[in-house]
Amino acid sequence: MRLRFAPSPTGALHIGGARTALFNWLLARQSGGSLLLRIEDTDIERSSAENVEQILDALSWLEIQFDEGPVMQSSRRGRHVEVLRRLLSEGRAYHCTATAAEVAAYKREHGQERGFRGVESAEGAVRLRVSDSGKTVVNDLIRGPTRFAHVHLDDPVIARADGSVLYNFAVAVDDLDAAITHVVRGEDHLPNTPKQLLVLEALGAEPPIYAHLPLLHGPDGRKLSKRHGAASVQDLRDAGYLPEAVRNYLALLGWGSGSEETILSTEQLITRFDITRVSRNPARFDPVKMRWMNGVYIRSAAVDALAEAILKHLDSIDGEAAAAVRADPRRFAKAVAISQEKLHTLADFWPLAGFLFLRRPTDPKASRRWLDADGRLRLAETRHRLEDIGQFDEQAVRHALEGLVLELGCRPGEVYQPLRVAIAGVTVSPGIFESVALLGREETLKRVDAALEASLSAST
Ligand code: GLU
Repeated sequence: MRLRFAPSPTGALHIGGARTALFNWLLARQSGGSLLLRIEDTDIERSSAENVEQILDALSWLEIQFDEGPVMQSSRRGRHVEVLRRLLSEGRAYHCTATAAEVAAYKREHGQERGFRGVESAEGAVRLRVSDSGKTVVNDLIRGPTRFAHVHLDDPVIARADGSVLYNFAVAVDDLDAAITHVVRGEDHLPNTPKQLLVLEALGAEPPIYAHLPLLHGPDGRKLSKRHGAASVQDLRDAGYLPEAVRNYLALLGWGSGSEETILSTEQLITRFDITRVSRNPARFDPVKMRWMNGVYIRSAAVDALAEAILKHLDSIDGEAAAAVRADPRRFAKAVAISQEKLHTLADFWPLAGFLFLRRPTDPKASRRWLDADGRLRLAETRHRLEDIGQFDEQAVRHALEGLVLELGCRPGEVYQPLRVAIAGVTVSPGIFESVALLGREETLKRVDAALEASLSAST
């Protein structure tokens, strides 16, 4: 198989585009074939070098590698003109001055009964000549065959009067020259396919096999957009998703593995992927499921790899946080280890465990709830116990705190929550014993004292 992914650099890489790239990549790896990256920058006004950079970045973040390219479509202009001339000289294409208004008038009169045929002229746009007889068949691996009788098709415009070629012409020539065997792309390109097939037929070329993927919707059934939380690969990356989790989740959008299993390694995806089992119905991107799946990947990650990913993520969103964890790598490794169970995304780390590196203000609501007069009494007692511990480690902290709960005959939260609010500022943190041990005696006592003082003065 020879496949290609052909994004237009008119914006960031959309999640739907990433899925298209992934399906192409899975097919290429599965078949031992090759995958070409073609940047379709023919729309000069909407394309930018910055978008190209972003797309390449997103693909490399997803670890989708290409065997060939990137080829810029604009760099093939000379070739496009050459093929255009050939079709003109063979009489398969002709210049025509018909205006859009004239074509519309023709349509009003004739409806669909016969496609628009232009009048050959010495100048004007270039149209491909379509004979009234015969038909073009799109053999789609997902949708089956669709037949288009030529008599109903217009002579398509393939170049403007200024000589610049049109998109459908460029795509057909590029796919042909690259000997592409399978075109796997979004369903929005289905209407383009007959035009591309007509160009290939005019060139006497064997067409590739097509597979048009169903559209991607948000959970509300509308086209996936930023409203749904994430629309581009960049959004997912910024939100702290892992590339392997994103690959896994995207692979299941529109394709069922045929089993109940949802967590599939890249190797399993490559082996099991089956383009003919892709659904024709729109797929739904469900942020809740994506987040759940990411959590599964985070929990199964090796701690050092996870720490590295978290640090990279912090680097991109919060310089102060990144500097704080860099300053204490050993504490950081431990903080990751004790947080891992509670993380769904890389972005969850800092809100959960940042207090282990930087002191932060106490949430007033948490303070009112847990540092009332009774809470302060229990916290003061907790402080004594922590002060008296010999070797200040997790086990000793656990022993001291559990002992206090027993002695007071209270619920564990009545001892742990005031302490948690004192050291973390909020009511959620990694395990309290691990957190206190990692923070160390001195810093813990300092924060407890500060919390006692602050809540006391707030209450008087
Ligand atoms: N450049 C088109 C797009 O980004 C894809 C064309 C194709 O795959 O044939 O939508």
